[in-house]
Amino acid sequence: MITAARVKLYPNEGQKILLEKHFGSCRFVYNYFLKKRDEYYITHRDAKKSSLNYLDTQNMLIELKKEHPWLYEINAQSLQMSLRFLDNAFKNFFHKNAEHPRFRKKERNEFFAVPQHIKIQGNRIYFPKFSEGIYFKGSKEKLSEIKDINEIRITKDSGYYYCSIIYEIPEELPEKKPLSEDNSVGIDLGIEKFTTLSNGIAIENPRFIKKVEKRIKKLQKQLSRKQKGSKNRRKQILRLQKEYKKLRDMREDFYDKVSTAIAKRYDTIIIEDLNVKGMMQNHHISKSLSDVSFYYFKQRLEWKAEKYGKNIIEIGRFDPSSKICSRCGNIKHDLKLSDRIYHCNVCGLTIDRDLNAAKNIRKIGLIKVGSVRSEFTPVEIATSGLYGIYPYRQRSVVESGSSEASAEEQLT
Ligand SMILES: [Zn+2]
Repeated sequence: MITAARVKLYPNEGQKILLEKHFGSCRFVYNYFLKKRDEYYITHRDAKKSSLNYLDTQNMLIELKKEHPWLYEINAQSLQMSLRFLDNAFKNFFHKNAEHPRFRKKERNEFFAVPQHIKIQGNRIYFPKFSEGIYFKGSKEKLSEIKDINEIRITKDSGYYYCSIIYEIPEELPEKKPLSEDNSVGIDLGIEKFTTLSNGIAIENPRFIKKVEKRIKKLQKQLSRKQKGSKNRRKQILRLQKEYKKLRDMREDFYDKVSTAIAKRYDTIIIEDLNVKGMMQNHHISKSLSDVSFYYFKQRLEWKAEKYGKNIIEIGRFDPSSKICSRCGNIKHDLKLSDRIYHCNVCGLTIDRDLNAAKNIRKIGLIKVGSVRSEFTPVEIATSGLYGIYPYRQRSVVESGSSEASAEEQLT
């Protein structure tokens, strides 16, 4: 299994300068070839070879170094890694998994990678061009034991330097529990409550996180009153960056704890596939949604499930998980975002909105993998407004015992 450890670096003045040169040069190479690849495509659109690949750019890099000899000061493999990252960004773009790669900006997400010749000894990490090693703080006993370092990534955040050590551990993962209804749980991620589980447990966003969010808002307001380019404004930006970092760390810690608890406790975990981009388009709720960064949480949960041998079922994201009655399957089309309580006009169920959604998510997931006997048969339909798989027929359809074809007729 591949895992990572992050340590804080304490470079001396000379090393700081060289680190900055690495950041700058890797950014330069990335941006230079991003432009080259775009230009090539424009002029060769109709040619047999319409785009540059990784190897092309690697060969061009040799020429670029002759033009800009200062690039020789930089670890050659780190520059090549920049080309690799660019190539991946383009591949993701071509496969429609990401937007067109963007130019990297100074002082934002500064990083470079080192793929080889890395050694950890005591409290120092050694890699090419840093032959006397950079001092770090972290568990040196554990890190010195690492035999197989795949790669390290050096980053800069709020003026500090960090090193992520990506390495392999031979440890085998536990065998997966059988996929079943027993000990399964559906998870609804929300704004009001952080998560609601299908068994009625709700987990709130911790108060200390709300406190930092409040402070950030205040600092932002103050920043808007500071004069552009002034010393005070720069100070304020640094202060804000530190609060952001604090918030990020707190959240990561919180997500880590919640995902561990869920993965340990349940054998089958059902969660909605989150279309983050789709959610962002709804401006009204975009801020809170991006704030709780569900995406990161889901990644943690997936990783923890892997670690404890548990199952994760993902279901498609579609409206009805909150609109369906979890007891009778009736669909309430006029449910508003502001309705916190779900009341079913057909069977009379009155239930917390998020709990109703969590129960549906669980049921839909179990139906999807065929491990639940449901009185409601899945009906696959695609209509203009509602899309995806409808897990339930409407009550009248079920009662009449009609075929799937006529069920479709009634729904559309
Ligand atoms: Zn109902």
